[in-house]
Amino acid sequence: MEFCPKCGGLMVPSVVNGKKVLRCSRCGYIVEKSNPGTYRVSHRIERTPKDVVTLVDVDVSVLPVVSFKCENCGNDKAYVYELQTRAGDEPATRFYICTKCRKVYREYA
Ligand SMILES: [Zn+2]
Ligand SMILES: [Zn+2]
Repeated sequence: MEFCPKCGGLMVPSVVNGKKVLRCSRCGYIVEKSNPGTYRVSHRIERTPKDVVTLVDVDVSVLPVVSFKCENCGNDKAYVYELQTRAGDEPATRFYICTKCRKVYREYA
C-alpha cells in the first residue's frame, strides 16, 4: 500500500498512456512504477512438464487413434485429444493419450 507524497491520499494502480502507474485517488498525482511487472497478472500456465498433464472427463472411446510411441510402456498407439484454449484464435493444444497405460503426452507446437 502506497500513499501520495503530495496529499497523503491512497495510491491506486492505474494505466496512463499504456504505462502502469500509481495514481492518487484523492488529487490525481501520478507516480510511474519502476517495475512495470508489479501489477501483471498471468492467466497462462506454461512450462508444465509434459508428463504430469492430467485430463479429466475425456471419453477416449470417441477419440481417433494414431501411431504414437509411448515412452512409458513402449506402446505405439495413442488417442488424440484436442483442447481448445479459451482464446478462440489460438491453436488447440493437442494431447496424446497412450491406449495402453493412459499416460498423457502434451504436444508442443
Ligand atoms: Zn494526492
Ligand atoms: Zn503407454
